[in-house]
Amino acid sequence: MSKHSTEQPHGSTIAAKAGHFLDVNTGAIVPEIQPSTTFARDDRYQLINAANTYARDACPTYVHAERVIADLEHGEECRLFASGMAAIAAVFYTLKPGNHVVLPDSMYWGAKGWIHEYCKRFDIFVSEYPTDNAGAIEDALQAHTQTQIVWVESPSNPMMHVTDISLAAEHAHQYGALLCVDSTTATPVLCKPLDLGADLVIHSATKFLNGHSDVLAGAVVMREEHELWTAIVRERQGAGAVIGTFEAWLLLRGLRTLYVRVDAANRSAMQIAEYLDQHPLVESVLYPGLSGHPGHDIATRQMQGGYGALLSFCVQGGKSAALAVAGALQLITSATSLGGVETLIEHRHTLEPEANGIPDNLLRLAVGIERCEDLIADLDAALKSIA
Ligand SMILES: *Cc1c(COP(=O)(O)O)cnc(C)c1O
Repeated sequence: MSKHSTEQPHGSTIAAKAGHFLDVNTGAIVPEIQPSTTFARDDRYQLINAANTYARDACPTYVHAERVIADLEHGEECRLFASGMAAIAAVFYTLKPGNHVVLPDSMYWGAKGWIHEYCKRFDIFVSEYPTDNAGAIEDALQAHTQTQIVWVESPSNPMMHVTDISLAAEHAHQYGALLCVDSTTATPVLCKPLDLGADLVIHSATKFLNGHSDVLAGAVVMREEHELWTAIVRERQGAGAVIGTFEAWLLLRGLRTLYVRVDAANRSAMQIAEYLDQHPLVESVLYPGLSGHPGHDIATRQMQGGYGALLSFCVQGGKSAALAVAGALQLITSATSLGGVETLIEHRHTLEPEANGIPDNLLRLAVGIERCEDLIADLDAALKSIA
C-alpha cells in the first residue's frame, strides 16, 4: 500500500471535496479557473510564486486536478494531458530503438493501432500476450533482454477480458520492466492498480473521471519516482500535450461526483448484464460481474465494489440483428465512447479493423446513471423488435 492510502480520507471524500478545497482568501468552496499562461517575477527577478512559471510546465488549475487524481489512485504524482491518447503516447515517446514492450492482444484499438505503428517506425519490439492470461507475460519477457514496459488494460475494452494485475506486476518486475495499467474502464473507485504493484496508471479522463462527455483529457499517475516518470514529465513539458485550463477545471468538477456516478452505473450494469444473460435472443454477455465470466474470480479479487459500467453482448441473428437492436433503442443513444452519465451503445465491428476480431454481432453498452428499469425496458423493447 502506498503511504497515501493510510493517511488520507476515503476516495469518495477526496473526490467530493476536490481534495478538501477552501480558498482562504475568498472563502470560496469551489476552485477558481486560473487561465494565465504566464506568471510574473518581482523586482528582484524572482518568481512571485516559484511553482508557476509558464502554463506548459504547470498551472494552478491543472495542478489541483492532478493532485486529486493522484490521491484517488494512491499515487505520488499525476500529469494531465490533452487526451487519453496523448497520455499513452507520452509513455511510448520515452522509449528508444531496440527497446521492447509487451501488450495485451485485445485492448482499446485506438491505442493498439497507434502503439504498433509508432513502435514499427522507431524499431521498438512489440510482443503480445492473451489479455486474459497474465501468466503468458513471462514468455514474452523471456524472449527479449531489454523490456521496458508491460501494458495491461483491465477490464479490456470492448471484450471485457480481465488481467491479473498483481501477477503482471510480478512478471514485469522480475525482468526489470515497469507495469503500466490503462485503468480507464475500472476507475479508481473500483480498482487501484498502484496498490497491486503497477508502476504507472493511465486514464482516458475523457471517460469516467470527467463523466459528462464534454472534456477530452488524459492522465498518467505514478507510484514512485523513476527514470521513465522523469522522461514522461519532460515529454509533456517539452512536446506540450498539456490539458487546457478550462478542461482541467471541468474535469475537477466532474471528479466531485465520480463515486456516486460510478456506483450507480456499476449497479445498473450488473442488473442489465443479468437481464441480458437470461434473454433468449442474446447469445452471450461479456461482463466480469457474471459468475460464468472467465475473469470473474480475478476481477472479484482486484476490484472492490463492482465490476464496472461497461459490458458487451452478442445478439442472435448476426450483424444485421445487432444493428437492428441498436437502431430500435429509443432512450439509449448509439455513439462511441463510454463513462458518461448517459448510456451509449456501440457496434464496435463497424469501427474497428476486421483483424481485431470483434464479433460482428457484438454490441458494447456503456451504462450511465439513468434509472435502470428505464434502460432495461428500452433494451427489452429493442430486442422484441427483432424477435
Ligand atoms: C477512450 C480510451 C482511450 C483513449 O482516450 P482519449 O481520451 O479518447 O484519447 C484509451 N484507453 C481506453 C481504455 C479508452 O477507453
